[in-house]
Amino acid sequence: MLTENMRHAVSIAVAAFLLGATAFGQMSQPILGDQPTQVSDHVWALMGFPNVAIIVGGRATLVVDTGMGPRNGATVARVAAGLSKNRLLYLTTTHFHPEHAAGEPGFPPETILIRDAVQQQEMEAHGAEMIDMFSSRSAQNRELLAGVKLRPPDILFNNEVKVDLGGGVTARLLWFGGAHTKGDELTFVEPDGTLVSGDVVQNKVVPNIFGDGGTPASWIAVLNKISALDVKHVLPDHSAPGDGSLVAKEREFIVDLRTRALALKAQGVSAEDAGKQLSAEFRTKYPDWPSMNVGGFVKSIYAE
Ligand SMILES: [Zn+2]
Ligand SMILES: [Zn+2]
Repeated sequence: MLTENMRHAVSIAVAAFLLGATAFGQMSQPILGDQPTQVSDHVWALMGFPNVAIIVGGRATLVVDTGMGPRNGATVARVAAGLSKNRLLYLTTTHFHPEHAAGEPGFPPETILIRDAVQQQEMEAHGAEMIDMFSSRSAQNRELLAGVKLRPPDILFNNEVKVDLGGGVTARLLWFGGAHTKGDELTFVEPDGTLVSGDVVQNKVVPNIFGDGGTPASWIAVLNKISALDVKHVLPDHSAPGDGSLVAKEREFIVDLRTRALALKAQGVSAEDAGKQLSAEFRTKYPDWPSMNVGGFVKSIYAE
């Protein structure tokens, strides 16, 4: 028989499980909803897979990321039109992966597409291949990505372009170097101090370098450059928003993991064993992170 206390504990465990399942469901299911959440004075987000930013100025709106495929892109464009008093729409993407960039055909054709040059090179080299890879993962992905043709951007930049959205709102589009991919783009919104960080700054998510993206050292160099900005809010692409302290936390985690992995490498421990050992060690050290498999990132550190 369950005592009152036990019953209470069971119902909390069930609630926590359901909450976890729901949060995970929202993070991984690829159909975006149409209810925006406000992140700061001029920044809204559609929270989903991935989180999409909508930055509203007095004369123009900038969307960062598209959702997977044109159907999601059209949802984002509709929500952006509802939030803004203007028809001028800019679009940019945090990196070239399909849930971030392959919804572009769902936007109105007059949308001004901006992207950093390194990201565009990656898109041309690996964009179609990534769409094929994502399409093979599920029937739903295949349907969302069917027939997607990616167009070249209207504006390419090397290190930085400033987009004046009017009403005192400026978006600085920045390429600081490779991290999750080579072409990771950051958007810093002034005066809000809001950083749309892509995969570069996340909230309690183990970093991941995809394919021939950046290196752990280049990722740290990117974070050093971000620390020079006055970041007050962070909107990551695959985790919950947070305050500016997420930038230093991301850096601490990568430096910590890199220091430990390089020490094990110097002792002759294999990358695979180091990954297992450090996953266990970091699970204890960072107990509030929802999952802690550092094997992939340890491999990237060993390969530097
Ligand atoms: Zn990615
Ligand atoms: Zn992603």
